[in-house]
Amino acid sequence: MAASNNKHTVTRGYNARVEDFREDEYPMLNDSIYLDHAGTTLFPKSLMDRFAKDMTSTLFGNPHSASPSSQSTTARIEDIRLRVLRFFNADPAEFDLVFVANATAGIKLVADALRAAPDGFDYVHHQASHTSLVGVREEARNSLCIDDRQVEDWVTGSCPIEDDGENRPVLFAYPAQSNMDGRRYPLSWAGKLRRSSRRKTYTLLDAAALVCSSPLDLSCADAAPDFTVLSFYKIFGFPDLGALIVRRDAEEAFHSRRYFGGGTVDMVVCVKEQWHAPKTQFLHERLEDGTLPIHSIIALDAALDVHKKLFGSMRDVALHTSFLSRRWYRGLGSLRHGNGEPVCVVYSPDPESADDKLGSGPVIAFNIRNSQGTWISLTEVDKLATLKRFHIRTGGVCNPGGIASALGLQPWEMIQNFSSGFRCGTENDIMAGKPTGVIRASLGAMSTVSDVDSFVDFIAEFYQDASPIPMVTKAAGTPHGSSQLHIHSIFVYPIKSCGGFEVPSGVDWEVKPEGLAWDREWCLVHQGTGQALSQKRYLKMALIRPSLDFERGELRVTYTGDIPAHLPREISIPLSKNPSLFQSYISRSRSSRVCGEEIQAQTYSSPEINSFFSGVLGVPCLLARFPPGGQGKSMRHAKAHLQRHQLPLPSATRHILPGSFPPSPPDSDTEKPISRRILLSNESPILAITLPSVAALNREIQLTKPSSKEISSAVFRANIVIAPADPENRPLLPYSEDEWTGLKIGEGKQHGFEMLGACRRCHMVCVNQETAEKSEEPFVTLSKTRRFDGKVFFGVHMSWDGGGRGLVPTVRVGDVAVPEWRDKGVGE
Ligand SMILES: *Cc1c(COP(=O)(O)O)cnc(C)c1O
Repeated sequence: MAASNNKHTVTRGYNARVEDFREDEYPMLNDSIYLDHAGTTLFPKSLMDRFAKDMTSTLFGNPHSASPSSQSTTARIEDIRLRVLRFFNADPAEFDLVFVANATAGIKLVADALRAAPDGFDYVHHQASHTSLVGVREEARNSLCIDDRQVEDWVTGSCPIEDDGENRPVLFAYPAQSNMDGRRYPLSWAGKLRRSSRRKTYTLLDAAALVCSSPLDLSCADAAPDFTVLSFYKIFGFPDLGALIVRRDAEEAFHSRRYFGGGTVDMVVCVKEQWHAPKTQFLHERLEDGTLPIHSIIALDAALDVHKKLFGSMRDVALHTSFLSRRWYRGLGSLRHGNGEPVCVVYSPDPESADDKLGSGPVIAFNIRNSQGTWISLTEVDKLATLKRFHIRTGGVCNPGGIASALGLQPWEMIQNFSSGFRCGTENDIMAGKPTGVIRASLGAMSTVSDVDSFVDFIAEFYQDASPIPMVTKAAGTPHGSSQLHIHSIFVYPIKSCGGFEVPSGVDWEVKPEGLAWDREWCLVHQGTGQALSQKRYLKMALIRPSLDFERGELRVTYTGDIPAHLPREISIPLSKNPSLFQSYISRSRSSRVCGEEIQAQTYSSPEINSFFSGVLGVPCLLARFPPGGQGKSMRHAKAHLQRHQLPLPSATRHILPGSFPPSPPDSDTEKPISRRILLSNESPILAITLPSVAALNREIQLTKPSSKEISSAVFRANIVIAPADPENRPLLPYSEDEWTGLKIGEGKQHGFEMLGACRRCHMVCVNQETAEKSEEPFVTLSKTRRFDGKVFFGVHMSWDGGGRGLVPTVRVGDVAVPEWRDKGVGE
């Protein structure tokens, strides 16, 4: 889009000056496009410089002492408290400001105090509330979640929550701006409710999302909320600190608070008698328990200065971000598929809609559908966004009520989804044909036109079915058995997520029900969490190269990257399962997690072994073994299953658009459960790929990026690589493997293998297995050419079928491989 090049076009509200300093002030953006400002704000470099100067030039003592350093700290903190109040136009005669850890801590302070009131309190919260507000309901006697209309009714006099004659106060909490979709709610509700309610009503405003990019004006104390909470790191990026701003008229709400600690009391008697006198002059003195986060508060001074210097006032920031968000809304909202259907379903309010006096935050919450109307999985969007260096957030974004109302999810549906396995942050994000979360992106003061435009371009590039890209997604018209196939190479990955070991030619390699012998029998687990480490996060694992030496009975492990001086380049681990090698089972045996699944692996006790792995990866980890034949948590099962695109379909539906593979009904019964044992592999006993598919993918990549390097088949981390024995004369069509139902391997021995379904891919295929460097390909091209039902596939899962004339099944390089084909329709 043109405007991004037009650096200094003056457009109303847009602060083109940001582009001048952004590169210097935000060096962390060099390798990312940051689009989750509602989640975290970046801090400018000059703020850190200012803060460092402050910290190193002045002696800051702990408050509550008479030393000069202590006195000057106390004075400085009081100045900053005042300065922050003024930042929100709050008169110190009308308001007090309590420093807290974050917005949530401010909310808890209010809830704690009201719970201690003689009859507790009743709680009403708006449905757009963040989970931090929702949780308050657990402390209340009665609670209720209400929508806009119910608030409006309340304003005109009808309190939504029954008064049972106990004279108990009501706390009403709502966000000034929803963290989910940027929708704003009137500040005026607070004053109106206070005046119109017959019951004593306090209001708690969650301003955490609003203040990121807008002024908060508390100049009219009568109209202001009783309690306002916010987090400074969301405005300035730093410090990690929050505030609770209390209307002095509402201070009595804290009278029943019980706890005291640190400097919050004037006198405490504790021997023989128990008595204490809370500080009385300022509310903040009574509520700030323990030593204040002095350095964070001091940093606030620098944060205010630097923010002002870079961005001007919060009003300037609001103009800038709302200019960008209008552009964004128009950009995403106007994307259409070739058939005219919209690409994005946007849940955020239109920032341009005239009847909206409040405006809306620079947040966009949406979901994507393909041209056939099928929802695109959020996890897939996340994977691509990550590769394209966008930082966005997907899922429930801590806003259960907002999500439920945007997506039309009823409580029973949410509970049903939970029972069928849905958890926040897992891959199951489309359940029963409906999305369970949203894609959220948001802008901050340092966002630019090019951030916005490149995000719109990204969505268009991958999700708009407009241009008919030539698709090589499926084999068509494959002549049955015309190609003679053989096993080109065999790999095992003894340590999960580490380098592969190529089975030498001429060796018969044993196949077990769990997969190839020695495949994924070991893993590295984090010393703290017990989670199995993955190359997805620790790229350097690719440089850990295990090799199996049966003569010496060892697994030899070499690290090919830069090695810390005190470590050997290679270590040996006995293949023996001698119990003395492992940490004693008498000490509480710890469970580990592989792909979120709890397992019982045995960890090695040798400090040499563990410090080798910890040292090369820079992560405190232990080597663990998960030998075949275990029981209970020492056993895992395959999760692979046939994908819908592998099922026979009428040939008319074979033209595939990006992201689409309808029109089979959602939740068809393709997911037949299979119970096959596996070791530590992600999904199935054996993974196979074919070289013609790798070649086809490389051709696709070359089509759009002629200069890009060829992708090695190693990135797919297959166990068995299959190729035509005579590729010139009897080629194999790419992606034929999708259609196989079985494979017979080995002339004479003819061991049978069953195909279990296509292999779902993530951006780990972008890790070069030689260098451990990560790039965009092949995932970007795969997601354009090999996406079905919103998921990306390459290669097939398989397992030994258990038959085979009583022989120990083996495979060897060069073995003939004869596929069995799915029964195909006429005309193919
Ligand atoms: C971020 C946010 C919170 C939580 O803030 P913390 O700093 O994590 O306590 C609460 N509400 C809204 C609207 C938010 O955006």
